[in-house]
Amino acid sequence: MTPASRPPTRILDTPITFLKGVGERRAEAFRRLGVLNARDLLLHIPHRYEDASTVRAINALRIGEDATVIGTVISKGVLPTRKGLRIFQAVVQDTSGFIEVSWPGQPFLDRSINKGDVLLLSGTVRFYHGRQLMPREWVNLGADDSGTAEGRVLAVYPATEGLSFKMIRSIIDKHLDALVPAVDEYLPADLLHATGLPGIQDALRRVHRPASVAEAISGRNRLAYDELLCVHLLQRRANAIARQARRGIAFTNRRELTSKLKSSLPWELTGAQVRATREIVADMTSPQRMHRLLQGDVGSGKTIVALFACCLALENGYQAAVMAPTELLAEQHFRTFSRLLAPLGVEPVLVTGSMTAKARRAAAARLAEAGPVLAVGTHALVQEGTMFANLGLAVIDEQHRFGVEQRATLGEKGGAPDVLLMSATPIPRSLALTLYGDLDVSVLDERPPGRQPITTALRGESARDKVFEFVEGQLAAGRQAYLVYPIIEESDKIALKAATTAYEALASGPFAHRRVALLHGRLSGDEKDAIMRSFRDGELDLLVSTTVIEVGIDVPNATVMVIEHPERFGLSQLHQLRGRVGRGAEESFCILLGDQGAESRERLRHVVDTEDGFEIARADLRLRGMGDLFGKQQSGLPTFRIADPVRDEELSEMARAAAERLLAGDSTLSSAANRGLQKTLTGRYGRALELFRVG
Ligand code: ADP
Ligand code: MG
Repeated sequence: MTPASRPPTRILDTPITFLKGVGERRAEAFRRLGVLNARDLLLHIPHRYEDASTVRAINALRIGEDATVIGTVISKGVLPTRKGLRIFQAVVQDTSGFIEVSWPGQPFLDRSINKGDVLLLSGTVRFYHGRQLMPREWVNLGADDSGTAEGRVLAVYPATEGLSFKMIRSIIDKHLDALVPAVDEYLPADLLHATGLPGIQDALRRVHRPASVAEAISGRNRLAYDELLCVHLLQRRANAIARQARRGIAFTNRRELTSKLKSSLPWELTGAQVRATREIVADMTSPQRMHRLLQGDVGSGKTIVALFACCLALENGYQAAVMAPTELLAEQHFRTFSRLLAPLGVEPVLVTGSMTAKARRAAAARLAEAGPVLAVGTHALVQEGTMFANLGLAVIDEQHRFGVEQRATLGEKGGAPDVLLMSATPIPRSLALTLYGDLDVSVLDERPPGRQPITTALRGESARDKVFEFVEGQLAAGRQAYLVYPIIEESDKIALKAATTAYEALASGPFAHRRVALLHGRLSGDEKDAIMRSFRDGELDLLVSTTVIEVGIDVPNATVMVIEHPERFGLSQLHQLRGRVGRGAEESFCILLGDQGAESRERLRHVVDTEDGFEIARADLRLRGMGDLFGKQQSGLPTFRIADPVRDEELSEMARAAAERLLAGDSTLSSAANRGLQKTLTGRYGRALELFRVG
């Protein structure tokens, strides 16, 4: 059977190799792009568009303006400069005239741009022995494309070796008219209508053959919406099924310990804390297991919310456990809890690896007896030897610092405890719902009142001495300071050497009379804790550190942080680091030190200008994508081909609401109106098959 004579939907299953104009070699390249069949080909959409409909005549260009032109290369070559920089230059011509185009530092272009090639170029016109164009963006349309791009929008596809975007474009163009009619609309009519987005066939034509950029965008948005809708449907359905399977403890809101805690707090809870606490209480009093993520900026007061949850478990006669990623943080929580719970007559138990065997045994003995006990500790809580008689609640602080297995293990201790995860990488709620749809999410988006703002400044090398004088001033006033070096990889020997050298220079130079220590990831856990402890106890003035300074550690007397090479950090990371100061009543400062290029200065502005972690995370996501913000733990998060859950926040929110409505009325999507959607979902996502299986 030839593709054309297959039944319509089968056409879409045609392996890419069998499409006319593809062949085995190109099919291989297509597979690398994730395109296996005709359906994938339709969904291989352009990643950008060159708007050739706004092309200008070359002879009309003026110095200083920004313009797009199309011209044929009439001469080219590589010029050396006196500074050793090699410049590729070409002269391009259209019917009106010609202009010189210059690519400094890109001599290799000489191999890919040939005389006779037609180029589409956008950039600024400058004066350099005459008019010269510096292309910001450009596309080689090839030798035979003369004129065809004029007056329309040019689609540029993600390409790969052995398969140029031009080839992809021509293959898609060849098959578009035959393939598109085979795609049935799968969104229910009323839903589609409510979105205001184009129908599926229309959308596919618009993305591949747009008459204007606006048209291309609307088509792309429809496809992105579909993808987001599918992910939300999957997540919600998985969540609902998991809930049914997760019979848990139905705690009773006795308002004994929780009310006492509330009335003994030295301050009022913020509105956000009240809201989050209510959400958690609702989860814990329901018969299903809680599986909730509490996220909030550094200093937003997550700990106290967790403590309310613990009290609810305790007043029901259950045990609660709070796990922190480091000994120091565990100790800190232990102190805080001991202090806040003293008026209630509750004494928590500390469980860490460095405790004496005797202390460890005593703690284990208390946990082995059924009864209300609050355990605070490190991953020692989930190691052998720690048994919980009746764990009712597991809280995991700074959850991203733990491996997936460690998190899971605490949740499996005892019967079926409720689980509360806490994270200080705040991301917009809608994004959290897209990424962690199988968790419920509470957000602390409000700061406790009376917090001193942190003044953040960006200073160049010329100000280095002044910056250190300023730090000295703070130390002289009895405060403490951090100096942070960017070692992200602990194996980075060169960076470690730089930090060590800098430490030695400071400790023997400007801060020779101060108590200075160096903290880095290569030290043993004990050594690290010992240094942090002496810093906390005021036995050190200046802590030179890599990024290991513990998340969540509270040293209120530290009022200034200097960060070297801030350009090497992500914005959210800088914000987290900065959160180590500004924890006391004194005014605090964060100084980003080092000379910066314009681009990096622009990026760092986000940290200088705002203290809102959500806003910063958003900027970080926009600039660097999700991978950097979530690092290795990204595995397990959904992946997207077309949609970008950050940039498409609004679409995602629309899709989330739609998924909720659809599933509320028809949880397996098996009604006549939803069938098409169910089929598309199960066809595209393997996981969907089991989630939406009917009957
Ligand atoms: P994080 O969310 O970073 O874990 P913490 O729970 O450590 O923040 O809280 C930061 C500080 O704010 C703590 O010193 C805590 O006692 C204080 N705090 C928490 N909630 C409030 C509140 N409602 N009013 C005033 N201070 C608060
Ligand atoms: Mg915390």
